[in-house]
Amino acid sequence: MEILKLNSINKFYGENHALKDLSFSVKKGEVVVILGPSGCGKSTTLRCINGLEKIQSGTMEILGVKIDKDFKNWREIRQKVGMVFQSYELFDHLNVMKNVTLGPMKVEGISKDEAEKRAKFWLKKVGLIQKAYAHPKELSGGQKQRVAIVRALCMNPEIMLFDEVTAALDPEIVREVLDVMLSLASEGRTMLIVTHEMAFARAVADKIIFMDKGVIVETSTPDEFFTNPKTDRAKKFLNMFEFKK
Ligand code: ADP
Repeated sequence: MEILKLNSINKFYGENHALKDLSFSVKKGEVVVILGPSGCGKSTTLRCINGLEKIQSGTMEILGVKIDKDFKNWREIRQKVGMVFQSYELFDHLNVMKNVTLGPMKVEGISKDEAEKRAKFWLKKVGLIQKAYAHPKELSGGQKQRVAIVRALCMNPEIMLFDEVTAALDPEIVREVLDVMLSLASEGRTMLIVTHEMAFARAVADKIIFMDKGVIVETSTPDEFFTNPKTDRAKKFLNMFEFKK
């Protein structure tokens, strides 16, 4: 079953044609990783999928809902499409528990008890239950990012979008965030991930989409992509990372 399907999506920022006839799909339980050089349209793709950016043409189908450029009901979609950003976007004046229970209480109308139960389950799972009543400023970047992941999980999303969630973290704490994502993947969660962590991409992905200049250049299995990329553009891209096979 397809959770997400993009059909010939075009996105312009003024004159800049950022996404060109983009088509791909993500099935239930699948982990799809989008790779590509900076500025190729990875982040724009994720932002179009949850309505943070408007598309100019093409259609999407998200959990059976048909979406075109005039679609308005993004609230309904965002309940089911969790997104985690590079910059955490936590409320600094609220403690962790409040940050992660606010959404479910407001959107689903569940009780505080119920929301806290759910929050504790996920905080335990990512190793942060002891920080449940801490404020974001008392947390490291890696901890904040794990809280941001918990906040998304507490909404019971059908698919999770990750936009370079480790790019702002110190190298030594990148691992703790990637491990959380690997464990979600192993539990069968549907995820669409943008990352520059090549070894992680290879380990986590069922499918790699390689983009350049707003188009999908190749779609492959991780093994194929990392050992035998089909295009020169992909080869050049991989060379930049000195990826160890
Ligand atoms: P990536 O995530 O692959 O680095 P982006 O999706 O951020 O790429 O950017 C794709 C293209 O769209 C780039 O040319 C970028 O400069 C442009 N772009 C991205 N966001 C905006 C914006 N908010 N306004 C104008 N142009 C943008």
